[in-house]
Amino acid sequence: MKPMKEYTFWFVVGSQHLYGPEVLETVAARAEEMAKALDASPNIPCRVVYKDTVKTPDEITRVMKEANYDDNCAGVITWMHTFSPSKMWIRGFDLLQKPYCHFHTQYNRNIPNEEIDMDFMNLNQAAHGDREHGFIGARLRMARKIVVGYWQDADVQEQLGSWMRSAVAAAVSRNLRVVRFGDNMRQVAVTEGDKVEVQHKLGWQVNTWPVGQLVDEINKVTEAEVDALMKEYEEKYTIATDNIEAVRYQAKEEIAMERILEREGAGAYSNTFEDLYGMEQLPGLASQRLMEKGYGYGGEGDWKVSAMTHIVKAMTEGPPGGTAFMEDYTYDLEPGKELSLGAHMLEVCPSVAADKPRIEVHPLGIGNRKDPARLVFEGHPGKAIVVSLIDMGGRLRMIVQDVEAVKPIYEMPNLPVARIMWKAMPDLRTGAHAWILAGGAHHTVFSYAATAQMMEDFAEIMGIEFVHITKDTTIEGLKKELFLSDLAWKLK
Ligand code: MN
Repeated sequence: MKPMKEYTFWFVVGSQHLYGPEVLETVAARAEEMAKALDASPNIPCRVVYKDTVKTPDEITRVMKEANYDDNCAGVITWMHTFSPSKMWIRGFDLLQKPYCHFHTQYNRNIPNEEIDMDFMNLNQAAHGDREHGFIGARLRMARKIVVGYWQDADVQEQLGSWMRSAVAAAVSRNLRVVRFGDNMRQVAVTEGDKVEVQHKLGWQVNTWPVGQLVDEINKVTEAEVDALMKEYEEKYTIATDNIEAVRYQAKEEIAMERILEREGAGAYSNTFEDLYGMEQLPGLASQRLMEKGYGYGGEGDWKVSAMTHIVKAMTEGPPGGTAFMEDYTYDLEPGKELSLGAHMLEVCPSVAADKPRIEVHPLGIGNRKDPARLVFEGHPGKAIVVSLIDMGGRLRMIVQDVEAVKPIYEMPNLPVARIMWKAMPDLRTGAHAWILAGGAHHTVFSYAATAQMMEDFAEIMGIEFVHITKDTTIEGLKKELFLSDLAWKLK
């Protein structure tokens, strides 16, 4: 995975020749100073470079073409220090294929009472120039982020930084390869999807690899390689089983799957308990470990949630919190204190664990294989989101729900899997109603680190539908939103 800091954003400042060289030199010098300050800020996760002060349609077109061509450029940020007539931008914007942010800021924080004269007004007119610039973004129906505020303020930089994470996620998405070991679980609807449409909209290359090939790879893993990995397990986790052979087999699966993923340049994979032909165990610990390293995973052949897990992990590189493949399992329906219990039959990423995970071995009722080793732990309390991507036929819909994880209210000593308990917004009954109304899957990406805003910006960049279930959601309001959205997407 390419580190977040290696992605670059181009700061492009618009102007025109009307002002004369002296003003333009001042604009360029200030823009460079601002880009350097943003680049150095801890609130900005990526590189920011001042690219140019563009003054003509040709200059604008050239810089947008270069942005498209440069693989390290993850997005373009524009700002109009002065006035830049926006018909000059049409050709360039028509060509731009990178995420775009209009940063509506100003070099000076305050109006200098004594010094202000018409020269000052002509130089410092973002309030004026950015309105002309905003019009062309609206007129061209561009997917765009608008960030407003003073460039040195932490909350403004954080907004910009958050959008950059979404833009990096777009770059990750457009380069993502997903390895499918086996097909989807038989007869399941929500894990299906149009892979051609998904590749067209999101860039994912989703293809299948035979389980037999994985078995060959597992058989090639040496005992010395397993010994080395077992040492790592002993350091990181509590080994709470006598069945060491089962743990060693998971180590083999981890090494074998990672080899195939590396060979194929893949960031995500799926498998299914219905196709474990030649394997001794369903990968549990092995999949949890790969997720901890940043790979996406989806059970039952769910390649959409797998890809999204990887993307959300890439998007949130750095800050703590964790991101996991998750499944809604069961409820506690105590009136006024309703909670969801999420887990999976094995595969929950330990990045969300509150404490040191335990390696345990228990029977698995499905899949008809040997007892698999898995990591068992509780998720930690905190605000989080759950994300589901579904194929509505003709379009993709992303559904995000705000949730609040709590310390599980029961010990559940006989539950042999990792678990998280949470309150769905606005409350369990309305929240579950809303989720079902929108068609959200039982599989989700559960993330403490990502925000709904990041997901919304990602959806806007990729041109897919976005539905957000919040503390303010009502069923009446959501019904209307979904109805209107259906009409709008039919017209697109
Ligand atoms: Mn599942």
